[in-house]
Amino acid sequence: MKRIPVAAPVLTGNEKAYVMECLDTTWISSAGRFITEFEQGFARFTGTRHAVATNNGTTALHLALVALGVGPGDEVIVPTLTYVASTNAIRYVGATPVLVDADPRTLNLSPEDVLAKITPRTKAVIPVHLYGHPCDMDPIVEACRARGISVLEDAAESHGALYKGRPTGSLGDVATFSFFGNKIVTTGEGGMVVTDDDALEKVLRLYRGQGMDPERRYWFPVVGFNYRMTNIAAAIGCAQLEHVDELLAARRQVARWYAEHLAGSEDLVVQPVQEEWAHHAYWIYNVLLAPGATAGQRDAVMAAMDADGIETRPVFYPMHVMPVYTADSALFPVATDLAQRGINLPTHGLLTEEDVARVCERLVHHAKQLS
Ligand SMILES: *Cc1c(COP(=O)(O)O)cnc(C)c1O
Repeated sequence: MKRIPVAAPVLTGNEKAYVMECLDTTWISSAGRFITEFEQGFARFTGTRHAVATNNGTTALHLALVALGVGPGDEVIVPTLTYVASTNAIRYVGATPVLVDADPRTLNLSPEDVLAKITPRTKAVIPVHLYGHPCDMDPIVEACRARGISVLEDAAESHGALYKGRPTGSLGDVATFSFFGNKIVTTGEGGMVVTDDDALEKVLRLYRGQGMDPERRYWFPVVGFNYRMTNIAAAIGCAQLEHVDELLAARRQVARWYAEHLAGSEDLVVQPVQEEWAHHAYWIYNVLLAPGATAGQRDAVMAAMDADGIETRPVFYPMHVMPVYTADSALFPVATDLAQRGINLPTHGLLTEEDVARVCERLVHHAKQLS
């Protein structure tokens, strides 16, 4: 039986034709028509004024923090339950990550814990729209606006997700996306920073391109970076945007199949369930083993799935258990619990209903062995 991977890019549009155009015209580096078109198209897609392409989602985060002026002595609030890049970027600028616990319904950062952890040194908050489900942004944005704190959305996993009808990436002061091969929209490796702020856009472009003065070539007033995207990557991105509605619809279809085929299972909890104010983009369809399950049991279920030819992933290990960010687990009870019971199921646009049915049949079977 064929192996079912957890993720797979869908490159069925003009991806190949546009990449070939780069090769045929020799525009393979970081200038060319696709860069501008991808930036403009992505700004439209997210409903923002400016989009600045980068070479990955991690450099996009770093660039955004630099542009916001975050540095040593500043605190940045970030969920403990996230991918490591969100937290590492804070360290890159010499600031201090302040971890917050998760919300048990959405798996995203808890707005209550964000409010509890704001101090006079808080310079920014990074809500991460985990697995494609938007964060509850209103309480966070409101608290930050009142105190002059910047909101940087890490939207690496939430292309096309909506919060109260508005796209993720348009909800804070600045937002970053990733186009890694397993993300909802891909360019192989790639990233984007989006913002409505004209001044911030200029700073982003300055630092992305080695700090070169836009008015004076080879003049460098600041220490910048080379975080440019290639025209080849942007070519793939342009093609992805042409069929992004299809890419998003395919994931929602997969999610509907999962909901149907998992209905009635008592040993599994689907989490997050889409909140009524949310439009979930389903980067990952996630389930939890029943309350009380241990990480060892979760790992056993994943190993059994693997033996059945089905790839799964554990929910991210929270940052507070990483040697470089270590903190007392008792301070993050929700994230600790979600991380030990959570399993990421295969979620991508090439799955058939038959694949999803097979994943569910095996998963329900293995989860039952635990009870
Ligand atoms: C993928 C991801 C990133 C980093 O993106 P890369 O393109 O892999 O550098 C950052 N944050 C989150 C939440 C991610 O999932």
